[in-house]
Amino acid sequence: MQIALISKELAQARSDLSDVEAYPFEELVDIIKDVGFECSRCTRCCTRDYNDHVFLLEKDVERIEMIDSSKITPAPYFDYCDNKGNFYVQGYALTYRDDGTCAFLGEDGLCTIYKQRPAICSIYPYMLNREPDTRGKLLWRHVAGLNEHGYYHCEMTEKDAMQIAKDVVEYETGFLQHRIDFLTTLLSYFRENKLKPSQRQYERQMKKYNSGKKILVNVYHCGQFHTYHLADKS
Ligand code: SF4
Repeated sequence: MQIALISKELAQARSDLSDVEAYPFEELVDIIKDVGFECSRCTRCCTRDYNDHVFLLEKDVERIEMIDSSKITPAPYFDYCDNKGNFYVQGYALTYRDDGTCAFLGEDGLCTIYKQRPAICSIYPYMLNREPDTRGKLLWRHVAGLNEHGYYHCEMTEKDAMQIAKDVVEYETGFLQHRIDFLTTLLSYFRENKLKPSQRQYERQMKKYNSGKKILVNVYHCGQFHTYHLADKS
């Protein structure tokens, strides 16, 4: 694997950011009104089985650190492994309990940090789907499938839809800017330290990790990498 791969992903993230910024706001508002999602408090979206993981933007990390820092963990699916066997990942996520529910889900099925919940939770399920349609046009879609949870096509005021659209754009641009910053820092770090990405090391170290041994993971946060020695608990 070559260092050029990081440059390629960086170019892709910059292009995605331009697409998001260029997307017609009114169209997004209309899509949100049409989807008209309403929470039914089924709690499925707050489980690992359903949504895999809750990625945290830097502002989320700062806020949740003040509430309970033990509920923050390096995000899964490490982005790269270098030729010395060290992993790099672009940020943090929330922890889950052993039963796969989010660490902040209350016994009554409600979020215990609702007013301070992560940005991704507050825009759910209107996250951006970056898949192009048949004409190559970027689509905004809710990620969760229709009728799998909650209520759809509910009445929504223009004001509420506009606020959600604003929050979605803010989250998506924030996420992509974070990815750009991570890849830019990673590129400089690899160049300065004469490192390169290694798929062979990635697979070798993941085998170690999956067998319960410790691996070294560098987590990107606020312009620098924070180092952890992690062992898979599953
Ligand atoms: S932080 Fe709250 S809303 Fe987000 S997944 Fe956890 S319980 Fe659900």
